[in-house]
Amino acid sequence: MTDDLIWVNSGDSHVLEPDSLWIDRLPAALADRCPRVERDDKYETIFVDGQRMLRLLNAFTEPTRPPGAYEMSKRLIDMDAEGVWGQLVFPSRGLWLCGIADRELEVASIRAYNDWAAEEVMESTGRIVPAGMVPVGDINDALAELARIKGMGFQAVFLATSVPAGMEYGLDRWEPLWAAAEEAGLVLAFHIGTGDSPVVYRGPGAAIVNYWETCVPGQRVVTQLVASGVLDRHPNLRILIAEGGASWVPALADRLDEAYRQHGVYVQPKLSELPSVQIYRQVFTSFQHDVSAVPAFTAMGYKNVMWGDDYPHLEGTYGHTQKTLHELFDGATPDDTRSITIDNFEKLFSIPARPRAN
Ligand code: MN
Repeated sequence: MTDDLIWVNSGDSHVLEPDSLWIDRLPAALADRCPRVERDDKYETIFVDGQRMLRLLNAFTEPTRPPGAYEMSKRLIDMDAEGVWGQLVFPSRGLWLCGIADRELEVASIRAYNDWAAEEVMESTGRIVPAGMVPVGDINDALAELARIKGMGFQAVFLATSVPAGMEYGLDRWEPLWAAAEEAGLVLAFHIGTGDSPVVYRGPGAAIVNYWETCVPGQRVVTQLVASGVLDRHPNLRILIAEGGASWVPALADRLDEAYRQHGVYVQPKLSELPSVQIYRQVFTSFQHDVSAVPAFTAMGYKNVMWGDDYPHLEGTYGHTQKTLHELFDGATPDDTRSITIDNFEKLFSIPARPRAN
């Protein structure tokens, strides 16, 4: 460990679950439907309940995986080399557990993920904070799992940014979950690009268009939670939109304030504070490369900006973390840099302090 590094925490990282996680942990009766990974010469494919959820070129996955992608002990070596002290970690394959239609399979798959994450991720390091999952098909299942993972020491719950029509986050069906998360002090961690197909367009420029499209549902989540009064009713509830950048937040807050004022005659429910006040208080975001995220904090008044490495994904900074941090923060003050890279993470999550060199 060297103190030449800019030390940071990451508000957006991932585990890579072992291929056999679900087959090892689910009851035999569910074995043929459980989440599984298949590889051939060209593709890695993830199946859940017999459905193909994601197919990635091997060229996209294997060469980019850092040594510690699978093993927690090696991950700490990667983190120390990159200057990353703490991480909030989301699933990778588990991202595709969202919205499993079969209730028994959904509950069992998510319990298995949470048990694995508690045993293999949380307990092994203390520096790595796994986001737990809750089954959302039936809200009572969500409440039961939320209470269970709170008891296991989880500090955050991962939720998908996209939900099917009829399950939008502004609807009353979710209210018990928001109340329970606020009461438990669990951060609701929405990760962009989840809950729906990542491919919405196949024409010219599709790789860029589809990458951008993954950000939109995260903005929709915030809009729904503000407009429906969720943040107003639950002022201690804290929301994270991970990996989607940060400078969209001031723009969205302006737009929602305008809607609230100029369309006030139509607005239901009424809110006790302007949308921007609630957003700036309760909505956190993480970004990895976006150069405008720093001025969102320093120049636009939006203070809940967090940096994230997105380790070990292709969008992340593994291998060039320090270069990226210098490019982002060499022009910022030490206090502003510390807020974005360390303090905001510590407002949400408790991890052991980093030992300092003498
Ligand atoms: Mn990510």
